[in-house]
This record gives sequence, C-alpha cells and structure tokens, in this order.
Amino acid sequence: MTIIEEKYNWARTNFAPNEKPDTIVIHHALAPSCTAQDIHRWHLERGWMGIAYHYFIRKSGVIYRGRQEHHRGGSLLGDENINVISICLEGCYTDYGALTEKVAPETQIIALHELCDDISSRYKIVAIKRHGDYPSAVDKDCPGKYFPWDRFISERGIGMVSEAWKDKAVEFVRKFQRETGLAEDGKAGNDTNAKLDEILKKLKEQPKSDAQAIKKAWNDFLNAIK
Ligand SMILES: [Zn+2]
Repeated sequence: MTIIEEKYNWARTNFAPNEKPDTIVIHHALAPSCTAQDIHRWHLERGWMGIAYHYFIRKSGVIYRGRQEHHRGGSLLGDENINVISICLEGCYTDYGALTEKVAPETQIIALHELCDDISSRYKIVAIKRHGDYPSAVDKDCPGKYFPWDRFISERGIGMVSEAWKDKAVEFVRKFQRETGLAEDGKAGNDTNAKLDEILKKLKEQPKSDAQAIKKAWNDFLNAIK
C-alpha cells in the first residue's frame, strides 16, 4: 500500500493532539471527482485549518495523506474528533441530483480495506464508523446510502468489533436498564428492547438531539453484539 504525501499550505498549524486513535470514521466527498488538494481548498474556504481528513482515497484506489495521524482531525463536531482517524472517499454515494453515484468502485473499496488494515496494525482500533453514525450527523447520510456499508463491515470480519467496544456497549445498556428500572444484566433482551421502543416513541416530541444520542448508543450496542 502506497500513501501519496501531499504538500498543504495550512491556514494555521496549531493542531490539537490525536494521542491514542481508537476509532476510524469514514466519509464520502459528496463530489464525484475531486483531489485531496480540492478538499484542502474547500476546507480552507470554510475557515478551517485545511483538509480535515487524515486520508483521502480516490476511486482509482490511490491513497493520499491529509492531516498527520497525530494531529486531531476536523471531520466531526468538536470533541467527537478526539482520537479519531478520518478517511474520505472520492465520490457522491447518496442522492444528490445529477451528481448521484450508485456504485463505489471495487478498487476504492479494496484500498479502504488496506488502509483500515494498516491503521489497525498501528493502533488499538475499537470501532469503524460512518460519519452518519455520529449524533451531530444523523441527517448527513455520509458516506452515503449507496456505499455498500453492510458488506464492507462484514468483510472486515469479526476482528472489527473489539472487546473494548463491547464493554462500552454493555456499560451503556446497563446504564439504560438502571435508569429505566429494569433488571440490570447488560443484555438487550425483549424487556430492554420494548422499553427502548417506548422511550423512543415518547422522544419523537422531545428535542431531537436526545433521540439521536440514544439511537447512536443503541446502534453501537447492536453493532457490538452482531
Ligand atoms: Zn462526512
């Protein structure tokens, strides 16, 4: 696997540290054809330091470096970026008018696997997530519904969900059970699922962020025990 090193002119260089990466987050560019330098320029235009991602993978499978791994990325909201390594895919894998693309090239998916393998060989990665899995981005559909996420995750194999992530998920379920008066066993059985449905129904009228946070944590749990 080769990573192309780009030269970027950063707006500022006081990057926050990214000390112990434990999560990989995947995006699409929402653009069918672009370069790492295009993205750098777009992010500068938003007033950011420069390209917010650590890696950019073109459809050809060529991988470019964005920020250094030890510099915190800016692809999520605020603290969500802590200890995340972010990868952006060239392409527009959601419904976006004439730019819509319904197929991600195999060359790009293979390169994504190779890059995730490489990152995982250097850090204890406990999860690989979509941008859209984060509470701040539930409506963003990133990396897009046409990116074959389920297939990609199943190809990552059983090693994708680590014990550390399972522990986090079980802890969430225990907390949920404690706070809703259920027997606390850390397992999502019928009673727990029914209680969650009941609460989510009520939350429809509540601030959306609450429902999003619960949905995310719940999806994390389901992913962990899959
Ligand atoms: Zn994204």
